[in-house]
Amino acid sequence: MTDTIFTPRSYEFKPYVDCKNWIGGEWSDAASGKTQTVMNPRHEKEMGKVAWSDAADVDRAVAAATAAFEGWKATPLKERAQVLYRVKNIMTERLDELAWLLSHENGKTLAQAKGDVLKGIECVEFGCSIPNLGQGEQLDVSRGINCAVTHEPVGVCAGVVPFNFPTMVPLWMLPQALVAGNTFVLKPSEQVPYSSMRLAEVFKEAGLPDGVLNIVNGGKETVEALCDNPTIQALGFVGSTKVARIVYARAAQTGKKVVCLGGAKNHLVVVPDAELKLTADTVVASAYGCSGQRCMAASVMIAVGDVQPIIDSIVKTTSGMTLGEDMGSIINPASVERITGYINEAEKRGAKVLVDGRGKSVAGQPGNWVGPTILDNVSPDMPAGCEEIFGPVLSIIRAKTLDEAIAIENDNVYGNAAAIFTTNGGVARYAVERFSAGMCGVNIGVPVPREPFAFGGWNDSKLGTGDLTGFDGYRFWTRPRKVTTRWEMAKDSTWMS
Ligand code: NAD
Repeated sequence: MTDTIFTPRSYEFKPYVDCKNWIGGEWSDAASGKTQTVMNPRHEKEMGKVAWSDAADVDRAVAAATAAFEGWKATPLKERAQVLYRVKNIMTERLDELAWLLSHENGKTLAQAKGDVLKGIECVEFGCSIPNLGQGEQLDVSRGINCAVTHEPVGVCAGVVPFNFPTMVPLWMLPQALVAGNTFVLKPSEQVPYSSMRLAEVFKEAGLPDGVLNIVNGGKETVEALCDNPTIQALGFVGSTKVARIVYARAAQTGKKVVCLGGAKNHLVVVPDAELKLTADTVVASAYGCSGQRCMAASVMIAVGDVQPIIDSIVKTTSGMTLGEDMGSIINPASVERITGYINEAEKRGAKVLVDGRGKSVAGQPGNWVGPTILDNVSPDMPAGCEEIFGPVLSIIRAKTLDEAIAIENDNVYGNAAAIFTTNGGVARYAVERFSAGMCGVNIGVPVPREPFAFGGWNDSKLGTGDLTGFDGYRFWTRPRKVTTRWEMAKDSTWMS
């Protein structure tokens, strides 16, 4: 469907093709004919249109996935994994092109877009390893009695994903779900549908049978139809906590397995013995990578005692960043307004703006921009101190002791990530054991537990049991069958007698 319209690897604006639904191995419009505009956030110009689906389209995709299920399930696991090996190879060959398109629809820098695709490839690699990891367990549980567990596909599965990692997050789900023998209906973010469109093409080229992977584009109504569809057996969601709650409750009504990863407010605790350069550079990279639009971004730095030299270094590096080159754009105008609102409100309530990204943009270019921002003397009860901003804003909260810092982290409703910066192992251990977060770091600003470890937070950052990536993902997209067996035929009753 697509071609290489984007030949120059630059940030120059190019319109793109329209994005349709991928159902049963064919591109189709939404049954209603409705579409929505996809904007390039760097230029705030229309890239194309995306199909706007309703329950009729979801039903069609689920029917295609149902029809493909028995054949795919009957395909041996090792053969299913071969598709993933080919997906990895194709994605690796097309890395630049995939990253380039992702950068255009999402607004990330080309380098960060490449990181997004590479992390996606790593998830595919994990899927390739399932034939070596995914065997069941068996044990003689009594004299002559054996119990065995097999992980079996659940049937038709669905995934709903956010805008901020257009390639990686769908690939948090697809490798394990597909290699397990399920068929899938993916609902990409309507703001960045093109990377998923490319994924459908890559899987097709890699030999995935038609109907095994389907894509329905759209928004709230599409997601509601997925939640309500009784044929779908498992649904994974990644997005804001507000929507995660709605999806979790609604999808569970039909008895589906559901895991919903939500929003975050990540705290980096810096103590006086922290190594200056490592800490300062790591905090900056964590706060402003992907313009702070990451669920693992440093949002709050808790400065314990006198860490002023580290703060000075963070301010210096941040002030020297070039917008458009070191940091990309913000996804849409509403997000720019929200982020700016948090900065305004914090300033009004007494925070000091050490670096001000308000009103900054790339010269001579429209688009959605906020420059990297640092707020000092933020308190945990200010919105900037406790709510998810999802933008390039680092709020510094001052604390007198490590215990006070840990208490601030613990009080926050989220629990995705937390990190401690120190050169003392005892301090590191003390903090990690007390953080209320599912993913902790020691001198690491973005403590993502990369494959084979599983990604997932605690508290309001996740609803449901288990994680979506790593082997937990395989468990989520399968159901265990327990078989207890006894063979005690009398010798003289067999065919041998
Ligand atoms: P979002 O919650 O607005 O949207 C996520 C998905 O839900 C999209 O596909 C969207 O179309 C759909 N949706 C939106 N409103 C809906 C509604 N009312 N009912 C049903 N579906 C709806 O999230 P976003 O703005 O695309 O992404 C940013 C959020 O995602 C942040 O909160 C971020 O922390 C979170 N996130 C979390 C993780 C994680 O692993 N915890 C990873 C990435 C992003």
